[in-house]
Parts: sequence; structure tokens; C-alpha cells
Amino acid sequence: MDDIVSLAKRRGFIYPGSEIYGGIAGFWDYGPLGVELKNNIKREWWKSMVYERDDVVGIDAAIIMNPKVWEASGHTTAFTDPLIECKLCHSRFRADKKDEIEFHSSSPHIIEGETRSKDWVREHIEWTEPKKFNLLTEVFLGVTEPKQKAYLRGEITQGVFVNFKNVVSSSRKKIPFGIAQVGKAFRNEITPGNFTYRSREFEQMELEYFVKPDEKGSQSTFEYWKEQRMNWYKSLGIDAKNLRFREHTPDERAHYARFAVDIEYNAPFGWSEFEGIHHRGDWDLSRHKLTYKDPESNQEFTPWVIETSGGVDRSLLFFLLDAYKKEKDRSILKIHPKLSPYKVAVFPLLANKPELVTKAQDVYNELKSSFFTAWDDRGNIGKRYYSQDEIGTPFCVTIDYVTLEDDTVTVRDRDTMKQERVGISKVKTYLKSKLTV
Ligand code: ATP
Repeated sequence: MDDIVSLAKRRGFIYPGSEIYGGIAGFWDYGPLGVELKNNIKREWWKSMVYERDDVVGIDAAIIMNPKVWEASGHTTAFTDPLIECKLCHSRFRADKKDEIEFHSSSPHIIEGETRSKDWVREHIEWTEPKKFNLLTEVFLGVTEPKQKAYLRGEITQGVFVNFKNVVSSSRKKIPFGIAQVGKAFRNEITPGNFTYRSREFEQMELEYFVKPDEKGSQSTFEYWKEQRMNWYKSLGIDAKNLRFREHTPDERAHYARFAVDIEYNAPFGWSEFEGIHHRGDWDLSRHKLTYKDPESNQEFTPWVIETSGGVDRSLLFFLLDAYKKEKDRSILKIHPKLSPYKVAVFPLLANKPELVTKAQDVYNELKSSFFTAWDDRGNIGKRYYSQDEIGTPFCVTIDYVTLEDDTVTVRDRDTMKQERVGISKVKTYLKSKLTV
């Protein structure tokens, strides 16, 4: 984990939010490579959930909605975590996070400037009673007092439900069908931590799939989406042995869920959820008093909803953790080519030989119209390979003296480190065929 946090900052994937002012807990900024990786994850998700299907359409709803939405959805009353406070140091923890509480209860504390040992802490520690803590972030709108209170959305889901009628009538989709959305959500998390894993501002990618209110049919749709989502992560290279399903017990289910299962990743801080598949029943549409009229039978009913709710930031963190490998002479991000920020890097063998640089620039300009391409002419070739391996660039193209004679370049594969000579006129096609694996 430490390696990933340091790589993320050093190479421009993720920086602590507002760092020059001392940071702000639970907020992160994505740098030049981070934004590429994030966009690639979102694009692949959209491709598989919207473009490759006939039964799903997308929307992009506003972050701030009429507060009545959150009253109807139950979030103003039920979107809570139980919070307890350590009476010695006043740190707060979620009462349901037993491991964190156990760890804190046997960790040294600094009390009034003096370090108290683990044994001392174990003997003296006391916790407050759990108190419910609402996770919605309040905002105030308008310029005159009293300002109008509203909320930053705590989940992107509700924007889909309140537009259900609009989408049905404008897209003419018939049940079963789904609405997909990607966007920011905000939660006033009590204990942000584990890098970006628990943030206060994060992005979700969600599908709300509407089905007939039917026990058996909805159960098989739930099973179908469970498999689809798990396979998506595997298809983008996450090692199957680091993935598992975990079913929610009745007492941990969210207020809206009839049943729920998490997709978990074997993170350095333990198995952790990064996507939930929820059977929301008719909870949301009935709370918003929305129904559906079957165009053929004219029958009116409240559809049930199967939801797949993934986190962009958590997936990104797990894609990084899973891809990061240390080999004898290099660190390598073996990330799927569809996700890697750069697809290819171009180098002139020597930066002080104008004939090589000009030729390399021609190749670079040609490739960058098709792929996000890096240029590097610093240091020696070994260092450049090292640097591209560390950020996951699948191919490096080197222009050397042989290029000047026969118009071929060296293409080096990140994973195998094998090099091949390819004619300049064929490099683009060569890379295209390799990158669509
Ligand atoms: P947790 O139990 O970890 O708080 P949750 O069950 O409340 O998560 P959901 O409400 O199901 O999470 O949200 C769906 C997805 O949104 C999660 O699987 C996760 O990927 C993402 N997500 C939720 N909360 C956060 C957060 N604080 N930071 C980053 N991503 C989050």
C-alpha cells in the first residue's frame, strides 16, 4: 500500500487534496495520469453497460436536488452510521468497524504530551455510547437569509429515480430496461481513510435496472448482474483470486435493500467492498410515487429495481494495487492496456542527435493521433523503460540508427520485455492489434 501511495503521488496519479494548505481529510485530487486512468475506467464501464447493450440508456443528473428527494428516499432519517468516540483521545470510529476499534484500543496514545503504552491504554480506554450520525453533506443556497438548505447527493441513484418517467417517455424503453449513470457523490464520512478507499467526495458508476415485480424473475436478474459485474473486473485484468462475493447479513443491509451482495477485493487492509449489487425492490419508485404503465397490456405497476453500484475511486485503487508488481530490476504496473494512461511511449535513442530526434518526432506525431502517446528523451534508454513500466505504458517505440537505414523501429513489450523490429508504416496497425486484446 505504501508503495502505491508513494507511486501515485510521485508519478501524478493521486495527490492529497489542498496539500499546500495542510490537506483536508477525505478529499483527493487526481493528477495527469490519474485523470487518464479514471476516464479509462469510466469509459470501459460505459461501453459495457450502455453502448454494448440495447436495454440500457444513460443520464447525467444534477448533484444538488430538491431536499424533498432525500426526505422521500429515506436518506435524511436513515442514511446514518453509528459513531463512537474514544474518551481518551476523542478520535471517532464507526461502531460497526470492529477491527479498527480493536486496533485503536490497543495502540499507544499521547495524552497531555505523554506517550501512554498499549497496556496503559488497554486498561484505561472507555468509549462513548454509539450515536447516529447522518452522512448527507449540507449546503446552503441563495444570498438572502434564511438560505435554503439542500444536500450534496449522498448517492447518485436518486437522480435516476426522479427522472424515471422522463426517461421512459423520451426513450420509449420498455421494462425490463436500465438507466446508467456515472458521477460524484458526497458523504460526511466519520473516519475517511485507507488512502482514497473511504473519501468524502468520490465517484460512483451505477446501473438501476427496472423489472416486473416478480420474486423469481427479479432474483434471476439479480444473479445475472452479479455475474456480469464480477466478470467485468476480471476481463480488465484483476486477478480472480483477489475477488470474492460477500452477502450482506440482514442487519447490515441498507434501508432500501431487500437483499444485497458486495464484490470485495483482497486489499492490504483486508477484504473490502468496491461494488454492491442490491435488490431495492419497489422502495424508491414507491417512495417517489412513480409507476409504470405497460404499453401492451395497459397494466400499471411499480417496477422493482436491481442496482449495481460501483465506486470509481475504489476500483481505481484496486486496479493499481492489483497491477503493481516488483521484479528484480524494475517496478511494473501490469495494468490492462485498455486502462493504462499512456498506450505507447516514443523515444529517440539519443537526444543530442537531431536526425534521430526528427525521425522520432514524426513517429510520435503520427501515433498521437490514434493513441495517448508519451514522449521521453531524458536519460538513457534503460531509465526510460523503467519509468514507463512504472506507470503501466504497454509499449515503447525506439528510433535508432537502424531506423535511419531501413525505416524500422524497435517496439518493446512492457510485460515480456521482448523487442521486435516493425516497419514505421506498420507501427500503428501493429499497436492497434496488440492494444485491443
Ligand atoms: P461502506 O460500507 O464501505 O461505507 P457502502 O456499503 O455504504 O460502503 P454503497 O452505499 O453501497 O457503499 O455505495 C456503493 C459504492 O460506492 C461502494 O461500493 C463504493 O465503491 C462507493 N463508495 C461508497 N462510499 C464511499 C466512500 N466513502 N469513498 C469512496 N467510495 C465509496
